[in-house]
Amino acid sequence: MPVRRIEHASSDRRRLLSLALAAGCGLVFGAARPAAAAGVMRRLRFDNIHTGEQLSAAYWQNGHYLPEGLREIDHLLRDFRTGDVLAIDPRLLDLLYRLRRQLMYHGPIHVISGYRCPATNAMLAARSKRVSKTSYHMRGMAIDIRMPGRPLPELRDAAIVLGMGGVGYYPESDFVHVDTGPVRFW
Ligand SMILES: [Zn+2]
Repeated sequence: MPVRRIEHASSDRRRLLSLALAAGCGLVFGAARPAAAAGVMRRLRFDNIHTGEQLSAAYWQNGHYLPEGLREIDHLLRDFRTGDVLAIDPRLLDLLYRLRRQLMYHGPIHVISGYRCPATNAMLAARSKRVSKTSYHMRGMAIDIRMPGRPLPELRDAAIVLGMGGVGYYPESDFVHVDTGPVRFW
């Protein structure tokens, strides 16, 4: 019965789709829509709360990272204490991009801390037990952020659901740490 087979196939597809949606849209956003992704540009907006700098930069288009956009973002996320710049892990930008989509947030991401050179990180780690001596900030793989208008617990939960790396919750300092290291949270 060809008709019945078609019905089965279509109900399987529906089930797969709802499973993908239940998984936090990760599958749908990721590899499942290559045709729709073609031509799409990924842009991020940042406010660096220490330097007052603002940036809106496109960093990815048509399956490729855009060197100019990456350079601008690297500069904004530099170690503001020393001026040192390191290439930021593009996967961290994808994580932020997906986080914004998940939260339907269109404003600028407020940056509390991006890259930290080893001297800066050592200084901060000496001051606070909550700063790791081997922090992913030193590898351009971590950022501390807040999104004005979005409660901090909501930001933390969305980052945990994404499952793209580490998530640290710092309500006393009003930021969430995300990194592209192993999936874990604290
Ligand atoms: Zn951090």
